Amino acid sequence: MGNSICPLCYSMNCVEKPVYARFLNFRDYQKLLSCRDCSHMWRYPSVSEDRKLNDRYELEKGIVTYGAFSIQNADAVPVRNMARVSRYVFPGAKILDFGAGNGAFLDYCRRLGHDTWGVEIEIEKIPAHLQEYVKPDIHHFDCAFDVVHMNHVLEHIQEPREILLEIQKRMNPDAVLLIEVPNEIYSATSCMKRILHRKSNSATSLYEHDHYFTPKSLKKLLENLHFNHVFVSTLYDNGNFMIARKILSFLGYGGLIFSACRK
Ligand SMILES: [Zn+2]
Repeated sequence: MGNSICPLCYSMNCVEKPVYARFLNFRDYQKLLSCRDCSHMWRYPSVSEDRKLNDRYELEKGIVTYGAFSIQNADAVPVRNMARVSRYVFPGAKILDFGAGNGAFLDYCRRLGHDTWGVEIEIEKIPAHLQEYVKPDIHHFDCAFDVVHMNHVLEHIQEPREILLEIQKRMNPDAVLLIEVPNEIYSATSCMKRILHRKSNSATSLYEHDHYFTPKSLKKLLENLHFNHVFVSTLYDNGNFMIARKILSFLGYGGLIFSACRK
């Protein structure tokens, strides 16, 4: 990923966005680049290439890892994800949870009797009884899946386009791909959070993400990769002011970007 070519659409019509970078609490040496063609934004240098970032990450690992995810919601997440996935699951369907994390959703699916597999680079986070179903990368799978689930994964992957192509090769005809990513640039709630709690949110944006998708950039990416029936919308996350959140989501300013498409 160079610093002047869009990693999603390969356009060279890219500019730096210093104001947004400040808004995301980037450090001075970190750049936020934006594609004028597909509206995608991404970090340069990437998380994996950023030496200074990784040194700090090692120092503050505990705080960041547990600060970014709410432990009390751990049980609610698989149920919420299943509600979304279940409409596409048929008897005998093969499910892939790409970016399986701690294996909670994979475990939940398997306990419901679904033939579910996972990809997780930090395979040590997966409980021992599930490790035989999880591989460290997609190349270990030569089978085809009917449903692929990617929940808050794509924004962490340095080359999302290449990974999606590998996933696509392993999808059955008409299989479904479900993606959720944060709407960090245009989300009204993330704007509010950053203004109100600048400090506590700085860790999240400093360490975690290579890509800042917009509804438009995600849709264009999936269409360029020839996925069919591409649906993209923004969603609200749970919290107060639900009516306001629903209105903002309808207008494209929800905290999350959700996409469903078929091969
Ligand atoms: Zn682009």
